[in-house]
Amino acid sequence: MVSYDFSGKTVVVTGSARGIGRRCAEKFLEAGANVALCGHSPRDIDALLKELEPFTHGEHERVMYETCDVASMESINAFLEAVVERFDALDVLVNNAGIWEATPVGEVTEDMWQRNIDTNLKSQLFACDWFAKYHKENGGGQSIVNISSVSSILTGPNTPLYNLCKAGTNSLTRTYAHGLGELGINVNAVAPGSIATDINKATYSDPSAEKAMCDSLVMGRRGVTDDIANAVLFLTSEESNYITGQVIFVDGGWTLQQAPRK
Ligand code: NAD
Repeated sequence: MVSYDFSGKTVVVTGSARGIGRRCAEKFLEAGANVALCGHSPRDIDALLKELEPFTHGEHERVMYETCDVASMESINAFLEAVVERFDALDVLVNNAGIWEATPVGEVTEDMWQRNIDTNLKSQLFACDWFAKYHKENGGGQSIVNISSVSSILTGPNTPLYNLCKAGTNSLTRTYAHGLGELGINVNAVAPGSIATDINKATYSDPSAEKAMCDSLVMGRRGVTDDIANAVLFLTSEESNYITGQVIFVDGGWTLQQAPRK
C-alpha cells in the first residue's frame, strides 16, 4: 500500500457525502489531513464523525462538514471561506461533486442545460477561481484535482450535456494549470471510467447489463472508488508536483478500445 503524508495540510473535497468524494475524504483523513467535506444536505456532525472514526483515529478536530450547493457561486465561496476561517489554510482542492442525468439528443431543454452546466462545470470553475485568487493574495497552495470523466472525450446519444461539461473540465484544468504554475500549484484532472457508485447504480442494476459492461472493458471489471481516490491522492501529493495540466484516465482501458474486448 502506498502511503502519503498530508499531516498539517487542509484538503477540500466537494460532494463528499458519498461515492468517490467520500472515499477521497476518508483517504485524506487516513493520511493525516484536515478535511472539509460538503454536500447538498445538512449532516448530523456527530454521526458523521463516528462514521469517519476509522480514518481519523478520534482526531475529530481534523473534520469539517458544511452544507453547500456547488451549483451556486455564492454557496461555494461561503464554503471555501469557512474552510480558511476554520483551518487557516487551504492546500488542496478536489472538485468532485457532479450529477449525471439522461439528456437525449433531440430532447435537451434549457433547464437541463442550466442544471448540468451549473453543477458539473460552473461549480469547478468558480472553486478553481476562488482558490487561485486566494493563493495569489496569500501565497501557499499545493494542488487542484478536478474530477472529469471518460465522457469528456467519448460521445453518446444520451449525454450531450454531461459530455460537454466534462470536456469543459479538461479545458479548465489545463487553463488553471497554466495560470497557477507560477505559484507552484499543480492542477490536474482525473477522468473515471465506470465506477460503482450511486450515480450509475440505476444504469447497471441489471446483472446481464453489468456483465456486458464488464466484458467490454479491457480490465474486465468496473472500477471502485479506491481506484479514483488513489489517483487523486497521488496527484495532490508532493510526489507529483511536476505533473500539471494533465487529464489522467482511470478507466480500466475503456478509452483504449475501438471494439469490445469480447
Ligand atoms: P455520487 O452520485 O455517488 O456522488 C456525487 C456527489 O456529488 C454526491 O455526494 C452528491 O450529493 C454531490 N452533489 C451533486 N450535486 C451537488 C450540488 N449541487 N452541491 C453539492 N454536492 C452535490 O457519484 P460519484 O460517482 O461519486 O461521482 C463523483 C464525480 O465523479 C462526479 O463528478 C461524476 O461526474 C464523476 N464520475 C463518476 C463516474 C462513475 O462511474 N461513478 C464516472 C465518471 C465520472
